Amino acid sequence: MLVVCKFGGSSVSSPERFHQVKSIVESDDNRRVIVSSAIGKTTKDDNKITDLLYLLSAHVKYNINFDSILNKVKYRFNKIKEKLDLKIDLDKEFDEIVKHVDSEDYLVSRGEYLTSLMLSEYLGFRFIDAKDIIKFNYDGKINLEETYKLINEAYNSKDYIVDPGFYGSYPNGDIKLLSRGGSDITGAILARAINAERYENFTDVDGFYVASPKIVDSPKMIKEITYDELRELSYMGASVIHEETIFPIQDVNIPLYIKNTFNPDAKGTIINSSSADKSDIITGIAGKKDFISINVTKNKFSSKLEIIDYCLNVLKKYKVPVESIPTSIDSFSVVVEEKLAKNYIYDILSDLKKNEDIIDVKMDNNLALIAIVGRNMVYKPGISAKIFSILGKNNINIKLISQNTREISIIIGVQNEDFENAINKVYDGLIR
Ligand code: ASP
Repeated sequence: MLVVCKFGGSSVSSPERFHQVKSIVESDDNRRVIVSSAIGKTTKDDNKITDLLYLLSAHVKYNINFDSILNKVKYRFNKIKEKLDLKIDLDKEFDEIVKHVDSEDYLVSRGEYLTSLMLSEYLGFRFIDAKDIIKFNYDGKINLEETYKLINEAYNSKDYIVDPGFYGSYPNGDIKLLSRGGSDITGAILARAINAERYENFTDVDGFYVASPKIVDSPKMIKEITYDELRELSYMGASVIHEETIFPIQDVNIPLYIKNTFNPDAKGTIINSSSADKSDIITGIAGKKDFISINVTKNKFSSKLEIIDYCLNVLKKYKVPVESIPTSIDSFSVVVEEKLAKNYIYDILSDLKKNEDIIDVKMDNNLALIAIVGRNMVYKPGISAKIFSILGKNNINIKLISQNTREISIIIGVQNEDFENAINKVYDGLIR
């Protein structure tokens, strides 16, 4: 049995935490494939190495002296090396890095590279460089076929390895980064390639909360969640792991465990394709503020299909994705994210007004969307009624309602200022 473990930045941020990682890895002989992020924060005021490296790269770009940032980076690595008595020649590594500071992807990737080199020495595991196994095409997409082949050539199931997350390379060997938080994806790719029994993602929380602890006081933990539910919640702002983590493992159903490095015995959250757990109707609640609803009224004689098509083409022209399109007989709204639309919103409105069949266009902003997600809501009457009555009783005006027939999530739109209150009231009414 093989288990892939990914450790996030806060799990490898100090010598003591390296020690914790070692005891987790050694407590189960199946934990043989380790993926590491770059050194992260131990305390709130610490800097993540990745952030420092991005900052260093900006200094290089604008020709500003970067010595003090580089020294900060060196200090964090050296502290771990010294305390753990590692042999790695960091001076040599940094001399090499300084020679190539012009390439941002290379420079930033050195966070995971050095952290993983040190972790491999500390664990006594073989180091495999992600640049040799995670391959990108020149269009920036991962070449999964090639990547899976290279991983299997580089790894045999008896081996114990550490691989840096977050980067790979183009066909010519140049380093290419994944998006922020991408080590989660690296772990999933490895799990898929070697057909792991499970993928354990170690972070600094016990698992996925039913609602954000930043909004709800002491929310419950989700025990089990399906890939689809997780995707809905991540899309609506719940962030524990990278949104794309599940792609490589979903269709082969490798379960993903969210675990806590600082409380490894906690069960964590299990994510898989289906769950037998029927105990909770609502799996999670998440949401985001700052959407705009563009409300379009057409004349009664025109075709709604054509007007919606026209409207979508205008949005396509400005590359603004659509969140939802609630419609009624002669009008419809198109909901878009404010940060993606704001630079073009007046151009969009003016393009819409150019259509003679559109008689009115109005914009409603400060809209927040809340997703109430749960696989067990399917065929269960009364859930939306409960949500509406909770919000009604608390004087929270619902501006938008959307649910598709898969019934896995109900989306409601409220004013930005009602956002936190609405989540709390729905949580209290349906979960607490
Ligand atoms: N270190 C990178 C970041 O901070 C990647 C990762 O941690 O997954 O985004």
